[in-house]
Amino acid sequence: KMNKDLGQHLLKNPGVAAAIVAKSNLKQSDHVLEVGPGTGNLTVLILREAKSVTAVEMDPRMAAELTKRVQGKPEEKRLKILLGDVIKTELPHFDVCISNTPYQISSPLVFKLLSLPTPPRVCVLMFQREFALRLFAQPGSKLYSRLSVNVQMWAKVTHVMKVGRNNFNPPPLVESNVVRIEPKHPRPQISYEEWDGLLRICFNRKNKTLRANFMGTTVVLDMLERNYRLFCSQNDIPIDDTPLTAEEMAETDAMAVDPIEQDDEWQGFSEPDEDDELPDFFKQAQAEEAARKQKGANRKKRGRVHEVVREKVRRVLEDETKLADKRPQKCDQGDFLKLLYAFNQQGIHFS
Ligand code: SAM
Repeated sequence: KMNKDLGQHLLKNPGVAAAIVAKSNLKQSDHVLEVGPGTGNLTVLILREAKSVTAVEMDPRMAAELTKRVQGKPEEKRLKILLGDVIKTELPHFDVCISNTPYQISSPLVFKLLSLPTPPRVCVLMFQREFALRLFAQPGSKLYSRLSVNVQMWAKVTHVMKVGRNNFNPPPLVESNVVRIEPKHPRPQISYEEWDGLLRICFNRKNKTLRANFMGTTVVLDMLERNYRLFCSQNDIPIDDTPLTAEEMAETDAMAVDPIEQDDEWQGFSEPDEDDELPDFFKQAQAEEAARKQKGANRKKRGRVHEVVREKVRRVLEDETKLADKRPQKCDQGDFLKLLYAFNQQGIHFS
């Protein structure tokens, strides 16, 4: 009867449902978005306190149950059910989002909510414990990751409560936590793509120094070179594309940072998690790099611009921010902002 792929674990403890709604501090004038209402255990409580609810549900059988539950009642007119995948649905304006989230859409849901043109006042969301802990993890914590830095740039995240598996029917395999996400208002004036692009590189290997993450692999320098060329062409900055002489090449080789694979300080991978997976871009570029190395052609094509970019990166990390030896897991938001600013000053961009 249950569709396992949709994460259908219904809240059976009314106390937990009531606590989630209470933590949302609803006003009588609020329009609420509920993601995955299921049979409506949260929905009926929200309808008591808010003006209207838009519920996005993927499973038509669940939507039918919910429709039946409010049929002929006064709240029927204040509930609108949208059938479909919330990630692909165009959302109407809402003030508050409440969700006992289907765990497989946790990450895209958070980013969809935070990137809306007018973000909600507050979101109270239930997540799988590991994901929830990473949302509000602080620098130095084992769970501090790209997700933490990214979300905390755009919102204030606080922990609301733990919820054991037995509060659900059927019980999921994992424990859950409820978190409160309050988007910053006004939204910080920084580019979403630049910020995320920087963090992807910094956290590519989160136990490595920033120097190793930026300079220990030509994949990153190649990408920054492409972006730099684009920046130069858009800003009429001339570039010198003559190839390096054999001498110059030997000189820059001597300065090269140890490749990431050979770093002694390597502490091994931490727990695997979806957000630390290499983005497709890296996988593809690394495959290309490996192929080139095999042919022995890797070195010969390197031009002057590559060295210009490498020197800019070195200057930012070592001289300007002095963060080269720091590991991303110890860097706070101020450190990452300093990096982004210094790179952008050098014409180095991440998107
Ligand atoms: N809110 C209900 C409760 O707390 O009892 C049900 C929560 S259950 C964890 C998740 C619900 O989300 C299910 O009803 C499922 O069908 C629905 N769902 C799963 N994936 C979805 C998606 N991509 N978009 C919208 N709803 C989805």
